[in-house]
Amino acid sequence: MKNLSPLFAVILVACSAASSSDTDLKEITETKTPETTVTYEAPATTGRYFGYVPTPSILIFSETRDWRHEEGIVGADLAIMKAAKDMGLGYFTTEHSAIFNEKELAKFDVVVFNNMTGDALTPAQEVAFETWLAQGKGAVLIHGAGDASHKDWDFYHNEILGATFVSHPMAPQFQEARIEVLNTAHPVMAGIGNEFTAIDEWYTFEAPPGDDFIVLAGLDESTYSPVNTVYGDRSDLRMGPKPEDHPIIWAKCHGENQARTVFTALGHRYETYEANEATQILRNALNWTAKKTDAEGQGCR
Ligand SMILES: [Zn+2]
Repeated sequence: MKNLSPLFAVILVACSAASSSDTDLKEITETKTPETTVTYEAPATTGRYFGYVPTPSILIFSETRDWRHEEGIVGADLAIMKAAKDMGLGYFTTEHSAIFNEKELAKFDVVVFNNMTGDALTPAQEVAFETWLAQGKGAVLIHGAGDASHKDWDFYHNEILGATFVSHPMAPQFQEARIEVLNTAHPVMAGIGNEFTAIDEWYTFEAPPGDDFIVLAGLDESTYSPVNTVYGDRSDLRMGPKPEDHPIIWAKCHGENQARTVFTALGHRYETYEANEATQILRNALNWTAKKTDAEGQGCR
């Protein structure tokens, strides 16, 4: 989870003069900082691709200004696209934060922060998202979208994520663990049963999310080694002996329009979505946050 910003991108562009055999190498240096003033046009969501998609529609956003989960991003993108096709949802993927404006966001019902890391949105884009969400929309946060690189955005870190990432084991990094479903009646956990096992990079948080969050699943720390011998500042990554002590999937409903959000710590690896449970939870989360399920909002209580 190292900080990589400011990010310096140096691009060498070869410009060949038609009348000369000389090659003129022109160096362009671009500097992006978290509070960048560089402006980009929003990617086109209209036209022959987006013009055909049904509603609700999902915006899948995976810009990374910090750690990049290349495999996890691709795995989740594919899983969401397959799910969207099966469930009749539209989707659009981008890594351009310029799409976070009132006009473009209005086309979507759910935003998936697919392993987004770092301070990816400008302050104006953050406000645009918060205004959009307050209309009763939805958001799903996957794995790296829950790490410690989001503290510059108070609303996101405090109100949607709700817990502060500490670290994860590194030796080994990926371990099989038992996950206990702590709210079997919740629509996001439909079809999962009481427990399942998964192989992932298991996040530890400073504390579970607060009482305004609905904890859906937790880790059984006795089934893997919650010890970090390589990485970060802390070696003991235990949060507590009960799965309730170590939540890894949770939900929340926000404001008078009951916007729905879900965070799942599953999803570091491409192979995450080869497991039925992770894929089912992702599908359930998309349907629930899009309000295609649970019309009465039982999952908000
Ligand atoms: Zn990871």
